[in-house]
Amino acid sequence: MLTLIRKAHLIDPEPLGLHDVLIAGSQIARVEADIDLSGSDVNIIEAEGRWLMPGLVDVLTHPCGGGGEGGFGNRTAELEAADFLRAGITTPVGALGTDSITRRLEVLYGQVMKLRAHGLSALMYSGSYRVPVATLTGDVARDLVLVEPVVGLGELAIADHRSSHPTAAELLRIASDVHLGGTLSGKGGTLFLHVGDARPGLEPIEIALEQSALPRRLFYPTHCNRRAGLLEQSIEHVKQGGFADFTVSTTPEFIEAGEVPALEALRSAIAAGASAERLTFSSDAGGSLPHYVGGELTGLRPARPDSLLDLLRRASGNESHPPADVVAAMTRNPASALKLPRKGRIEPGADADLLLMDPAGAQLNDVFSLGQRLMRNGNVEIPMKQAHEEPRS
Ligand code: ZN
Repeated sequence: MLTLIRKAHLIDPEPLGLHDVLIAGSQIARVEADIDLSGSDVNIIEAEGRWLMPGLVDVLTHPCGGGGEGGFGNRTAELEAADFLRAGITTPVGALGTDSITRRLEVLYGQVMKLRAHGLSALMYSGSYRVPVATLTGDVARDLVLVEPVVGLGELAIADHRSSHPTAAELLRIASDVHLGGTLSGKGGTLFLHVGDARPGLEPIEIALEQSALPRRLFYPTHCNRRAGLLEQSIEHVKQGGFADFTVSTTPEFIEAGEVPALEALRSAIAAGASAERLTFSSDAGGSLPHYVGGELTGLRPARPDSLLDLLRRASGNESHPPADVVAAMTRNPASALKLPRKGRIEPGADADLLLMDPAGAQLNDVFSLGQRLMRNGNVEIPMKQAHEEPRS
């Protein structure tokens, strides 16, 4: 099946002017100023100057829910394909959260496969916050080699009161297994690290690197904007060839406690000399955010997948196009951090994961995922039956 998107404002990540994009099956076949297919059987979509962007790649989501840190009552719900599609996320990468006791990798795997059945390019991390890490097959390297959706290990927690405070030797052993699994499977392999508030910050990464010949890009820390000191360490890490991820979901209390807003973190990292190609944004969707009323903790609410699009909207303001550094941090940069060469870009041979947006207010109209139009004029249309559909009478 051929679909031709005509006269779209191509954003990848810079504004590239009006283009026609031809989708053949699940991939992008051609990207040209003018594609004439008159006479052939092709579904034509007139984009009329709307933005055409790559589908978002979100390197930290919790598709089988998260939370539970305030007791069982604060567990958050599973995320469905529609939640991600409305947020423009076509490649969500799932992780277990703090709780790897009542939430299991098998459940995460099932939810990731459900998202795939509903048309998304969902992926997952093996492992857990805690050491010894959870695995599907009994071994991290085996998970990477034998389980197709597994692209790395994460979130493994360091420098956090909820972590198991892995020793340098433990971290090095896990990183080596991820590296071996990534090498054997050809996936690259990533050790995705949740970094908490504790003072050592990224020091454990530096110790592991000193004691090994492992590549720096293997170590991919997240929540790097949670305090200024950690942001500084992350900038150094990126300057030396690593990737760093900033969490977009936030609360006024987090900012008050010293978190650097994600956009500000990105801009100050670039200003300090960090490569704009190795900085990423993630939503932490499904993770729990504390909610306060008058200084009292009243509960937790889940982080939303659409925090990424919200940021894009704010960063775009009334401009004629979204800022390239912000688009890159949600598309090609996370794809390159996880070595997903067909994701996060609009070019022949890439997967047809595309967002059509109305520049007025940066509203998302249409989402294509692997060539399937899963959102049409703001309405999500998933080809598979939903579990919550009413039974037929
Ligand atoms: Zn985390």
